[in-house]
Amino acid sequence: MMPGGVTTGNTKKRAAATRSRRVDLARGLICGARHVPSPNHDARPAGVAPSLIVIHGISLPPGRFGGPWVERLFTNSLPADRHPYFKSIAGLRVSSHLVIRRGGRVVQYVPFHRRAWHAGVSSYRGRARCNDYSIGIELEGTDRRSYTDAQYRVLARTVRALLAAYPTLSAERIAGHSDIAPGRKTDPGPAFDWARLRAAIATSKRGARA
Ligand SMILES: [Zn+2]
Repeated sequence: MMPGGVTTGNTKKRAAATRSRRVDLARGLICGARHVPSPNHDARPAGVAPSLIVIHGISLPPGRFGGPWVERLFTNSLPADRHPYFKSIAGLRVSSHLVIRRGGRVVQYVPFHRRAWHAGVSSYRGRARCNDYSIGIELEGTDRRSYTDAQYRVLARTVRALLAAYPTLSAERIAGHSDIAPGRKTDPGPAFDWARLRAAIATSKRGARA
């Protein structure tokens, strides 16, 4: 698929944002998301399954929402001359498995069984190189501005779908980028409401059983 390739219709998009989600395990893709392949991924180490979910916040340029620039960054096509900030990051080779936009739309860049390049130098509970064993989810946002209702709702459903698809994941093993790279990263920041996420995961869990 080409960047920007497969997009569902508006009706399908709205439906996908409001119903529970499912992972296509064979392809490592979440159903109902837009898929934009990033070249920035490689194999996880042999025998390593995802056992950690890492939550990030991102916006490009910082504090601006809605543009194409995160997608351009993750597909190595960010134009360095379009914004002063872009010059400092245009050479990065980074990605994330998922991005959840402000309105709740989900974009997937890397299949879950592949290693996305989102965490950088990092450690979780004494285990280094979090990219090896984690799934990265970027929320379009900043450290200080509230994330949206749609983002919490979609994030909770997405996490539930991941927990159901990958038994090696756990609701107790969800961390912020700032938790695994303290002193280096601050996202998703104080704006992210962890209690709200945990409550939303529990709610959608009950909903899935009903
Ligand atoms: Zn981050």
